Amino acid sequence: MKWFAIPVVLFASVVGLAQSDAARETTSPENLVNRQEPPILGIHWSRDFQATRDFQALRAARASANMTYHGGKIMTTAVTEAIFWGTTWATYSGDKISGIDTWYLGFGNSNYAKTSDEYTGTNGQVGAATSHLGHIIDTSKASGGATTSPILAEVCKVIPNPDPSGNGYYAVYTDLPRGNAGYCAWHSAGTCKGVPVQFAFFWKLDGDAGCDPADTSNLHSQGLAAIANVSGHELSEARTDPTTPGAWYDSTGAENGDKCAWTFGAPLVTFSNGSQWKIQGEWSNAAYTAGTGYANSSGQKGCLSGK
Ligand SMILES: [Zn+2]
Repeated sequence: MKWFAIPVVLFASVVGLAQSDAARETTSPENLVNRQEPPILGIHWSRDFQATRDFQALRAARASANMTYHGGKIMTTAVTEAIFWGTTWATYSGDKISGIDTWYLGFGNSNYAKTSDEYTGTNGQVGAATSHLGHIIDTSKASGGATTSPILAEVCKVIPNPDPSGNGYYAVYTDLPRGNAGYCAWHSAGTCKGVPVQFAFFWKLDGDAGCDPADTSNLHSQGLAAIANVSGHELSEARTDPTTPGAWYDSTGAENGDKCAWTFGAPLVTFSNGSQWKIQGEWSNAAYTAGTGYANSSGQKGCLSGK
């Protein structure tokens, strides 16, 4: 979702719901210089908010369902690294840390990664080959997702030397519950010491029905299954629409993850390392045009499951 294109009602809701954080920050002088912070690009709305978005998208879709190109770059590859940020990761003993590493390792060259391969930008074409550098645990107190600046600052703090080619993608998994925020995650872009970086923010989604793919496979804990699904959404969007002025999104501002959010074309998707995930599909202009995709929540058959 492009930040500027958020429907007014939703924007007001999100800002309103997040105001306990925002209200405090507006009194801080720091916030005044944060106006030029990177925009939030790929908001992954919770199920409730998505339903409202679908109504808006349905009207817009009558003009054109497909995404169009907006002149920017794409990610030809991604060098991924996970950052687990928050005090409670110090004593965490569940499956999320190892599971997320497995997820990113298996994403590279998966059929799921290939669902974004048709898109091109000024710097070339999205490619399915990605590499994963593992994870970092930072047990300092995490910041929420109301603004991008603290998340970018965290990335630059724990990744002193980001991928010099500018293909770094740093996924920040906090230990903070979503509360009343209307979104599960978002992606954005910025620079660390002059090097372009892509990054994403994730709430802790344990027991959060609004951001839960309802994976019944028993392969993963519910909390891992939830951040894995959202991770597919954000990484796919970052690869096809990483930064301003933007690359691929539709007339409502929806990126390829948004257009297929909360719809699943297969019970489980198998990644290149054999790991399996319940994960939403991604929008393909080609599949929509050919009528070969599965239907999104607005009934448009342009989603590819990547199974
Ligand atoms: Zn999104």
